[in-house]
Amino acid sequence: MKGIECNIITIFPQMFVSPLGESILKRARENGLLRVKIYDLRDYAGNKHRTTDDYPYGGGAGMVMKPEPVVRAVEEINKKSVRSKIILMSPQGKRFTQDMAKELAREERLTFICGRYEGIDERISLYFIDDEISIGDYVLTGGELPAMVVIDAVARLIPGVVGDQESVKADSFFSPMLDYPHYTRPASFREYKVPQVLLSGDHEKIRLWRKKEALKKTMEKRPDILKNADISEEDMCLLKEIKRERGY
Ligand code: SAM
Repeated sequence: MKGIECNIITIFPQMFVSPLGESILKRARENGLLRVKIYDLRDYAGNKHRTTDDYPYGGGAGMVMKPEPVVRAVEEINKKSVRSKIILMSPQGKRFTQDMAKELAREERLTFICGRYEGIDERISLYFIDDEISIGDYVLTGGELPAMVVIDAVARLIPGVVGDQESVKADSFFSPMLDYPHYTRPASFREYKVPQVLLSGDHEKIRLWRKKEALKKTMEKRPDILKNADISEEDMCLLKEIKRERGY
């Protein structure tokens, strides 16, 4: 089956309704390219009060999510013949990148475990997951927003989800460069004009201009990316041209 299945383990299922129910992701779900299943962790609590957290051993502030409900939910998900990759959302995980999104988009089934409070009992991270992903070096209140970020980035790489796959390939980070600048009508807005070349109809000139502008932007905004990039001969010539123009 084409597309991808994303399972989400959370104590706040409602948080996913709107982000997954609008626009491109809504359409992807309607046409089956993105199949989302939400597992309410409280259904796996195994106690009358549906409690999924408890006090931390050793004392200290905050509550900790119990391991058993999470494992029960994971085992339910993995009853299927195709095993799901199990991902824990955590600020301590690998920092999420476009390359990671590309790798995840090759999977058939993904499962995102969303933590809350002080996080989830450490035994989950030690023994029950395949990957731990962070969306950046800051701490959020829960793993739901991070899971949505990852699902959105992965889903738009599934062929057919974004109408024009070429636009995905031109996006920042798809190739190591940032995206080129985009303009739309009007051609003249206050004193600001759209670059003349974009109105020329000369496709080759436009292609080269875009490439050069993407390189310029990357040089200015993210020189770190350029340092590690695998640069083509054409890019190299354009970079030399930019440096010459700037008198480097
Ligand atoms: N005590 C934890 C720590 O310092 O590593 C932070 C817990 S945080 C308040 C609660 C949950 O939010 C985490 O278990 C994780 O699922 C999620 N979370 C918070 N920040 C995140 C981030 N940057 N990336 C991914 N998940 C995050």
